[in-house]
Amino acid sequence: MKPVMTQNEFLRQLPATILDKFDPHAELVQIARGGGDKALMNRVDFIYFPVTCVYSLEMSMADGFTSHIGLLGYRDAIGARNLIDLNLPGVPRVILSGYAIRLRSDVFAAALSRSPEVRCVVHDQFVRMSHSLGVTNACNLRHPLQRRLARWILNLNYVSRLNCFGLTHEELAHFLGVRREAVTEMLARLTQAGVLKTSRGRVEILDIVALRGFSCECDQGDQANVEDVRVDRPRGVERDLRVVGV
Ligand SMILES: [Zn+2]
Repeated sequence: MKPVMTQNEFLRQLPATILDKFDPHAELVQIARGGGDKALMNRVDFIYFPVTCVYSLEMSMADGFTSHIGLLGYRDAIGARNLIDLNLPGVPRVILSGYAIRLRSDVFAAALSRSPEVRCVVHDQFVRMSHSLGVTNACNLRHPLQRRLARWILNLNYVSRLNCFGLTHEELAHFLGVRREAVTEMLARLTQAGVLKTSRGRVEILDIVALRGFSCECDQGDQANVEDVRVDRPRGVERDLRVVGV
């Protein structure tokens, strides 16, 4: 088995026998930032398992605007939802370039059909994403921008395992659904406090402990849920999850 396969948390949770079957078909590919990935979500030819790249899950609105609703990274599989009868909103768009493991959908679908373990890991990802969407919704309604900004940067650190990101104020404003000027003001406060360093198109975390102090509790809620998901898995899900793709 290629050692890189265990650097994606979704794959790492699968039994070694399954990974050995994936191995001859798995390729490490470079994923470039930018561009809408609508086509990716409508295709069923590949599943992507991010290693270092990060996706924003974006929802298109009737007026043409897209709203950011979540982050996907090394814990996730991108495109697995094409193969099962669960649905979640949003289209993934690459926001941090990097590497991902690519696997043909028919290979993954065959394992999904045969293996309860694979179905459980897919189910866990959906529960974790649903939880994250709920927390983000509550956070957006309740918590001030300063805390939401700190929380969002912490979450990006969590899904990317990086401390420095190529991000403009404009992009951060899009992810938080606010004006760019408001983000610039909040970033200036965090910079003055020595928590972040910002330069043209870059944001660097200097003091992650202090950044957690600026964040709301929603960041910890997301991380704790990674463990809760396994406890909350409903009985029989590995049997009942229906494979519909390929
Ligand atoms: Zn919050």
